[in-house]
Amino acid sequence: MKTAVFVERDGILNHDCVAGNKPVSPLSLHQLAPRTEAVEPLRQLKSAGFLLIATTHQPMLSGGGLDRRELERMHDTLRRIFNLDDIFICPHDVADCCPCRKPKPGLILEAAFKWHINLNQSFVLGNKWQDAEAADNAGCLSLLIDSPWIGHGHHDIVLPTVAEAALKIVHLHCEHRPLAPAG
Ligand SMILES: [Zn+2]
Repeated sequence: MKTAVFVERDGILNHDCVAGNKPVSPLSLHQLAPRTEAVEPLRQLKSAGFLLIATTHQPMLSGGGLDRRELERMHDTLRRIFNLDDIFICPHDVADCCPCRKPKPGLILEAAFKWHINLNQSFVLGNKWQDAEAADNAGCLSLLIDSPWIGHGHHDIVLPTVAEAALKIVHLHCEHRPLAPAG
């Protein structure tokens, strides 16, 4: 079984666009602003043996406000910059009551099935309360980067930066890794 860090795309891999006081997703490659400060921390997670799996809600896909080819162009860019293993997308709106929109754990469970991931040894890295709830529902530990959207519900660990979160994950991972048999 493998271990993974599930990374919420908006807010961790690219900057949240903000409309009013709500975070919204970029709709074109032109609007996509990768968070380059996350490159080195995610590289460290990859060298520690984690799969890097991005998750994202893109309800504009089903609504027609987001072009699928444009989304693919954005995701190709993110895959290249962050060396991602996979990206899982929930294309539904709240009203669809789908199983994959966070805080439901569907995207994480789908990824775990495809990649044979041990969720109890895996982590969710995000910056919104839905990420912490989804992690809890999937049996992963969550690390939230502090933002206006972390809410007051279930939290495991909240830290100021992705770099600190990555260090914490590596430490927790080493503590819990079973010792190799002697000899
Ligand atoms: Zn969905």
